[in-house]
Amino acid sequence: MSKIIVLMGAPGAGKGTQARLIQERHGLPQISTGDIFRALAKSDSPLAQEVREVQAAGKLISDELVIRVVRERTEQEDCRGGYILDGFPRTTGQATMLETIAAEQGHEIVAILVDVPFDQLEKRATGRRTCPVCGEIYNIYFKPPQNDNVCDLHPETQLTHRADDTSDKIKVRLAEYEKQTRPLLDYYQGSQRLHRVDGTRDTDAIYADIAKIVTGQ
Ligand SMILES: [Zn+2]
Repeated sequence: MSKIIVLMGAPGAGKGTQARLIQERHGLPQISTGDIFRALAKSDSPLAQEVREVQAAGKLISDELVIRVVRERTEQEDCRGGYILDGFPRTTGQATMLETIAAEQGHEIVAILVDVPFDQLEKRATGRRTCPVCGEIYNIYFKPPQNDNVCDLHPETQLTHRADDTSDKIKVRLAEYEKQTRPLLDYYQGSQRLHRVDGTRDTDAIYADIAKIVTGQ
């Protein structure tokens, strides 16, 4: 049976990389609500106008409206064989509505969590250093440069660190993620559809596990 893959993972867990690999290797399109709303902003469809009116009034986009937007997008031809959802559902209310869409479209829902402990996510972000010359990315915990805080190829240039990647800010981001995602994890766990994949390994090892879930083997 074709699948709707609900892909979940904390900021920095590597979910985006895995979504891209599933798309490339299994031909399943990646449907992101962010992308859909950006596309709607340029569209003149009745649904797009309705979304604009809600936004212009300064109101929150309701679950009911989000689900209609997702339904319209996933009824397109490229989603026939299944698709990956990124950033949706965000609430158990949306998850319940997704069940209806899945039944209508004849897909089964599978949730995959790219699971990385929070202390490691914190090190991934706080330890990240970038060479401003070549863009090479280092990590002082996992992939340090040969010499302190300079690029191996550009020893005259100090590595840079993003201001948002402080421990305090990351803890806030992860706490928000946890608060938002916990009910969804419970929701899919409760119906035996949650697959946890160890996201601390390299990209290919993570992907190998995900591919088994996607193909149902
Ligand atoms: Zn460099």
